[in-house]
Amino acid sequence: MTGTMKVGAIISPGKVKVVQVNKPKPGVGEVLVKVKACALCTWEQRVFSGAKQVPLPYLGGHEVVGEIAELGNGVHSRWKVGNKVAIRTLAHCGECYYCQQGEDNLCEQIGKLPRPVLEMDGIGGLSEYLIARPSQLFRLSPELDFTIGAFSEPLACVIHSIEKAHLKIGNDVVIVGAGIMGLLHLLLAKKLATRVIVCEVNAKRRQLAKELGADFVINSAEENAVEVVKSLTDGRGADAVIHTTAIAEVAAEAIEMAGKMGRVIMYGSFYPDKPISVSPNYIHNSQIVITGAVSPSTEDFLKATRLLNYGIINPAPFIQAVFPLADIQEAFQLASKPDTFRVIVSF
Ligand SMILES: [Zn+2]
Ligand SMILES: [Zn+2]
Repeated sequence: MTGTMKVGAIISPGKVKVVQVNKPKPGVGEVLVKVKACALCTWEQRVFSGAKQVPLPYLGGHEVVGEIAELGNGVHSRWKVGNKVAIRTLAHCGECYYCQQGEDNLCEQIGKLPRPVLEMDGIGGLSEYLIARPSQLFRLSPELDFTIGAFSEPLACVIHSIEKAHLKIGNDVVIVGAGIMGLLHLLLAKKLATRVIVCEVNAKRRQLAKELGADFVINSAEENAVEVVKSLTDGRGADAVIHTTAIAEVAAEAIEMAGKMGRVIMYGSFYPDKPISVSPNYIHNSQIVITGAVSPSTEDFLKATRLLNYGIINPAPFIQAVFPLADIQEAFQLASKPDTFRVIVSF
């Protein structure tokens, strides 16, 4: 199978265009996936706006699902043409220090392995077809809508994060920020039988957090969030704090919300990145653990697809809009507006 395919490439800041490139052919041990849906994440939005500078044209898309279209030689018979799959586009080497310890989200080769589309740089999910190794594929149930399946990657990121919080039944958890990532944390934390306090400045998002099961919501613009968390926890502070905003100053506050033995997770990337001050004595005396969560591992992806396949987590409230590839400019413009949830490009 040869020929060309359409991709949605960012060609200049604020401009994305459908262009034709060569359609890839699966090599030995590879499969060709017909992409069905790809969601636009913060990374793509930052490249689109010009905030993140990368060589252009750039082909984004890492929240991607599709259907197996062609099998290369040597692919195991468990995979069939027509299988619905989520793709972990973050290819890892399997050979480095971190991969060999099972921490493949920290692979030394991330971002350095060959890109799927030769004509341009980028992760490549916004393409009609994508080459993958079977180890990057995770089954989606035949009944699952592709727009729901497109949440496999963000949900896997959130699973990676929440497992670092080592939650116990009955724990007090603070989630700072009720964007889509904060709210996915909320859904998981409630499944783990914890009491969840959500801090968010936007009234609509606070309301949605309540509807999705938050036990308390704090308007951090009007209330002293650290004090409210302390008063809700008998002065102790929370057992875990998950920080999902991009604002460094807010992260400093998140650390103050943790009680003794508390786990603080820096989930989101910070933009702009600014140093914050932390009292080393506070860490010494309280034994809090401050850590981060970056990208999903293979195991996280497996768990995420299982949660979606079995309907344990339903991300439907987070779908803002679905656009066909032809309207990708409109899709990027909507996704880049503040306070929008996931915009999905369908193929
Ligand atoms: Zn993402
Ligand atoms: Zn590696």
